[in-house]
Amino acid sequence: MDTDPIVEAGAVYKTYDTGSVRVDALRGIQLRVDRGEMVAVMGPSGCGKTTLLNCLSGLDSIDGGEVRIEGRSLASMSDRQRTDYRARRMGFVFQFYNLMPVLSAVENVELPLLVARVPMRDARRRALEALSLVGLEARARHVPDELSGGQRQRVTIARALVNDPAIVWADEPTGDLDSEGADETVELMRRLNDERGLTFVVVTHDISVGRRMDRIVRMLDGAVVEEQLMEVTHVRATDAA
Ligand code: ADP
Ligand code: MG
Repeated sequence: MDTDPIVEAGAVYKTYDTGSVRVDALRGIQLRVDRGEMVAVMGPSGCGKTTLLNCLSGLDSIDGGEVRIEGRSLASMSDRQRTDYRARRMGFVFQFYNLMPVLSAVENVELPLLVARVPMRDARRRALEALSLVGLEARARHVPDELSGGQRQRVTIARALVNDPAIVWADEPTGDLDSEGADETVELMRRLNDERGLTFVVVTHDISVGRRMDRIVRMLDGAVVEEQLMEVTHVRATDAA
């Protein structure tokens, strides 16, 4: 049994208070993610999936409970330490790529390294390695507009793993893709998990994405209502026909 948790969340509460409206977005979340796991977070729109991801990754603060990442309480870190920690140990993939349109694929991928003050030549080498891991070394000089949706999402995945993170957070990574692009993206995440043990937490409302993870965590109204372990042999798109 794997007993190496990356994420441990206990009794996590998050309330948005806009003055006129109070929204209890997270209501006592209990969740653990082990190293090397792939977890899907599913549930209807507005149930708190994005809030959960933002709170577990320290992008947003919580109003109750505790989040520990690799054994360290997020609350015990200063803002600066949290930001540093995110830059060094976490990768992020969002629905709309968030790639810089004027930068080439390799320039987009090396950006987080340059921000983390990695010397330019090392950054370029590591960015090219990451692009080759996602099978896009031949597209390194292309700008996002010259790539398909699936390829763009592979560039963002390369960018997410260029820091060699402990965990990658993905929020609806296939939400803007056709089924081919979605398959390409999920297969890539699955392969990076198999080959490199990369841990993923993937918010999705696509059950065909969820089924290819190790576990599905279902949310409703800010709470985890069900956890479902998937078969050890993963359902792959190619088996479906
Ligand atoms: P999901 O990602 O599952 O669609 P969210 O986490 O985005 O859901 O939102 C959960 C709830 O919190 C929703 O009711 C949403 O309207 C509310 N919410 C999210 N972000 C904010 C915010 N910045 N201010 C106020 N309410 C918010
Ligand atoms: Mg969301």
